[in-house]
Amino acid sequence: MTGWVAIVGLGPGRETLVTPEVRAVIDEATDIIGYIPYVKRIAPRDGLTLHATDNRVEIDRATHALTLAQQGGRVVVVSSGDPGVFAMASALFEALEAQPRFADVAITVHPGITAMLAAAAALGAPLGHDFCAINLSDNLKPWSVIENRLRMAARGDFAMAFYNPRSRSRPVQFGQALDILREECGPDRLISFARNVTHEDQRLRTVTLGEATEDMADMRTVVIVGNSATRRVGGHVYTPRSAE
Ligand code: SAH
Repeated sequence: MTGWVAIVGLGPGRETLVTPEVRAVIDEATDIIGYIPYVKRIAPRDGLTLHATDNRVEIDRATHALTLAQQGGRVVVVSSGDPGVFAMASALFEALEAQPRFADVAITVHPGITAMLAAAAALGAPLGHDFCAINLSDNLKPWSVIENRLRMAARGDFAMAFYNPRSRSRPVQFGQALDILREECGPDRLISFARNVTHEDQRLRTVTLGEATEDMADMRTVVIVGNSATRRVGGHVYTPRSAE
């Protein structure tokens, strides 16, 4: 039997936000591979092996998926949100590029709802005009690159979504990011902190950059900074579709 690898996004958390296409692929799988909390979201059943691994070994996980598929497995690699946004899809293609013996494995990618879109919907429409997404983790790129991108995005008047804003191993960088944003955007710009979006304990908080402190974000938070026109209407935050 011919095996394959499907790389899927499970969405931000709420079960109704898993796409029917992703559900169908999971129903056909013999193996599920991914980071422990994401694999936990898959119901066990006969004929399905769950391989839950630690997050730091993405390339090993990708190679494992390709190996199982070459042996005939129908392998689903799971990410949260969308698999192409700071997640497993790129890791899989990197592993494929480095190991030509897997060139004949069939690979498909199935999108999911990424955290910034779920957060934007919960807040209103803060990403309603031009925006960008920046991963604030310096695990895979130097901090100087992040600082430069932050400045350029702020000067371009993009709304911005920040993933991986702050962790226990990186407690101070987010404070530095806030300093750069205050310098470039001023103290009145709106910034929203969306934690555990679509989960039962979802928490949304919108303040100005002048009021923002680094402890408002953690690894379960996606942060959205508005552009110069972003404003509140009632209990919502939105960015108009036209530039000034
Ligand atoms: N592939 C994922 C992102 C993985 S990076 C996606 O498309 O959403 C992990 C980061 O995503 C977290 O640090 C956080 O910034 C963000 N994130 C993921 N799920 C989230 C959720 N339910 N609520 C808030 N932020 C979330």
